[in-house]
Amino acid sequence: MNNYCKSLTNYARRSTRVVTIGHQTIGGLQPIAVQTMTNTPTLDTEACVAQIEAAARAGGKIVRLTTRDEREAANLAPIAERVREHHPEVALVADVHFVPAVAAVAATTADKVRINPGNYNDRGGKFEELIELCRSSGVALRIGVNHGSLSKRIFDLWGDTPEGMAASAMEFLERCRQLDFHNVVVSLKSSNVRVMVYAYRLLVREMNKAAMDYPIHLGVTEAGNHLEGRIKSAVGIGALLADGIGDTIRVSLTEAPENEIPAAEVLAAHFQAAPEATLPEVEESLFTPYAYTPRPGGRTPLLWSEVESPEEWDVVEAVGAHPVQEWRSHLAQRSGDRPVVLRRRYTTADKNRFAIEAAADFGVMFIDSLADALHIENPHFSQAEIDEIALLILQAARVRISRTEYIACPSCGRTLYDIESTLAAIKERTSHLVGLKIGVMGCIVNGPGEMADADYGYVGGLPDHISLYRGSTLVERNVPQAEALDRLIALIKADGRWVEP
Ligand code: SF4
Repeated sequence: MNNYCKSLTNYARRSTRVVTIGHQTIGGLQPIAVQTMTNTPTLDTEACVAQIEAAARAGGKIVRLTTRDEREAANLAPIAERVREHHPEVALVADVHFVPAVAAVAATTADKVRINPGNYNDRGGKFEELIELCRSSGVALRIGVNHGSLSKRIFDLWGDTPEGMAASAMEFLERCRQLDFHNVVVSLKSSNVRVMVYAYRLLVREMNKAAMDYPIHLGVTEAGNHLEGRIKSAVGIGALLADGIGDTIRVSLTEAPENEIPAAEVLAAHFQAAPEATLPEVEESLFTPYAYTPRPGGRTPLLWSEVESPEEWDVVEAVGAHPVQEWRSHLAQRSGDRPVVLRRRYTTADKNRFAIEAAADFGVMFIDSLADALHIENPHFSQAEIDEIALLILQAARVRISRTEYIACPSCGRTLYDIESTLAAIKERTSHLVGLKIGVMGCIVNGPGEMADADYGYVGGLPDHISLYRGSTLVERNVPQAEALDRLIALIKADGRWVEP
């Protein structure tokens, strides 16, 4: 079985091994675990403990902290001691990006260490040392590949492609297997939802070929905030959960960490609550799972409220618990070339829940180019509210761009300014620039790489100082933050890309 999922039309979770992270276990038949990350400096014990406890009260069982250096890694010990007094169930994860020595210190306290394989490739022996430390301390490991920070060697071989991301993870999973270390979770994150979906599908295909059953952590990076951030995450994560892929998820939002938990729980419950589906089987050739193929004729998807002659359309409605499988099954059986509208009715009066569920159902159908329009129904919301959600879903799937796209990092202990209020101020002045992609990133260490294909970047350089980018080129270094938004707008104007609101 070398496809990315067992079946396109019969829902079943991918079977994975159980991995232990402190008092938590993920994989196997465990429910999909939800997690979050602190955005306070890891040297600030009080602030970190407060955020972790808030996340725990919201239901978060796994919380990650950034560890930039050995001092921060060492400060995990007093944080863990405090957290474990009241919330012994919470597993703490140390996020290490660049320095193997930091991972080694973190492994003495954390329940799991996340490393970015992009940083280990050329440092002989360090990875093996880390594995031995994890083994002797009973610590789990996440191989966490990021689209924006592949190693030079992988980049030269594959470019920053989904294939490169999957290959990078597979190399390190193979090394874990050779070392007979299996307490491993793997992730491949991107702020580009399509790249993220293709990368995970490729990874699962390769893991299936290699008979690997490591659990998978899903997430979309830099998704932003509010409805937009929730929908972007739900389109990416939902596309994979719909095919049974994913054992733990993080909905990363540019908001307080505890806000991520209910959003992730809605998404997990949307798939877990449903029984396994059994529908007529269809071929994988129904669509191209590992790359984007536009609709015939390059048609831009429509909202149902925009369709002028509804009688000319094939309406494909899903009413069961697994709409993606149901839609695929109907589409495989239909004949003729009338345009296709997908329809589904929701009944929740909670707007975030509605948006997340609709995004998780419809988004993947547009990533896979299987429809020409979407018809979302919900009696609790106006047509304008439903159309806003539908447009955000199409934007997240990158099939119809109707607004400015913000690639905003969720912030973490590295963040150099107040990202929530700054993002709000940037949106206030630029949200009419349809199609422009603006990266709003907390730090210069990871920001420029991770804002991927942004047209402009607003990146923390020093505390309260911002560096401005055009694409990946640094244009102004360390502007005082009070002037930075005006300078960004001046840059957009000088490039001829500004329009008056
Ligand atoms: S870009 Fe920097 S500040 Fe933002 S989440 Fe990534 S590491 Fe943290």
